[in-house]
Amino acid sequence: MLSEFELIERYFSRMNDKQGVALGIGDDCALLDLQPGKQLAVSSDMLVAGRHFLPDTDPVGLGHKALAVNLSDLAAMSARPLGFTLAIALPSIEESWIAGFTEGLFALADRYACPLIGGDTTRGPLNLCITVFGEVRPGHVPLRSGAQVGDDIWITGSLGDARLALAGLLGEQTLDADEALTAQMRLYRPQPRVEFGMALAPIARAAIDISDGLAGDLGHILKASQVGATLQLDALPLGPMLARRTQDLGWQYALTGGDDYELCFTTRPHDAETVRALAASMQLPVTRIGHITSAPGLRLMHDNEEVHTLSRQAYDHFRQP
Ligand code: ADP
Ligand code: MG
Repeated sequence: MLSEFELIERYFSRMNDKQGVALGIGDDCALLDLQPGKQLAVSSDMLVAGRHFLPDTDPVGLGHKALAVNLSDLAAMSARPLGFTLAIALPSIEESWIAGFTEGLFALADRYACPLIGGDTTRGPLNLCITVFGEVRPGHVPLRSGAQVGDDIWITGSLGDARLALAGLLGEQTLDADEALTAQMRLYRPQPRVEFGMALAPIARAAIDISDGLAGDLGHILKASQVGATLQLDALPLGPMLARRTQDLGWQYALTGGDDYELCFTTRPHDAETVRALAASMQLPVTRIGHITSAPGLRLMHDNEEVHTLSRQAYDHFRQP
């Protein structure tokens, strides 16, 4: 059985030769060089077995997701990733599990040149907490409070398929084998929109990443910005598998499903072409789904009429964003 220190040495310590990491794993603190004129963006997300994922979840996917959800927060603030720390509680040292977990974790870390610079390791019920550090240009950060009346509202990628994957796992929906595989990719391999988020810095007025469903997360922007919004339900970019199911289910999962990790952001109407060109240059689909209004609350439109008849659960979310 490995000791705590052998475990860190073997699985978590790597060469951290990234510029800006003055000292990585091995001392009491890591040290990051800070560029003059930049601000540090910091965010933590915890994943708890049994609450955020099923305990038998594939460790490779879990390693990816634990970091992806944190990078997604950086993306929503137009931040460039600098590094992250990992605090992990493990019930026992199961090397095959840790090897899978670190494989998924480091594949994503390498893709965004975001090294693991420290952390903590302890025995306990499986629990993963990552803190990411990023850098931003002061004043070039889309805050939740930045939306203004008349802004367009945009979504990257598509919504709802991660919720459909969960529905498959919970037996709420029947998925064929191909669908189950694709859906699980959406649930366990969310792609944080890091490059696009950084590119939005000069034009986005408000932004948030969608972790709990569009209705609730857009609701945070509306509340912080003291505005309302009108959304065109037909414009919602439903995930490809959801598009094959009923419209009502699609809208419900897109609005309240969660685990999408797409960006929702607002821009001035005259920046629409810039948004489209940026997204096209990154081969990322982007969809304008509505606009910001002075009237508070979230209005859902279908065929030019306001919709009040979606399922109770979804409807309640709209009422109390
Ligand atoms: P301390 O007791 O001073 O907190 P530790 O013995 O917990 O130090 O950790 C030793 C070194 O290993 C530190 O640099 C710490 O950041 C790092 N470390 C511990 N656990 C992890 C982990 N899961 N991932 C990355 N680094 C870790
Ligand atoms: Mg420690």
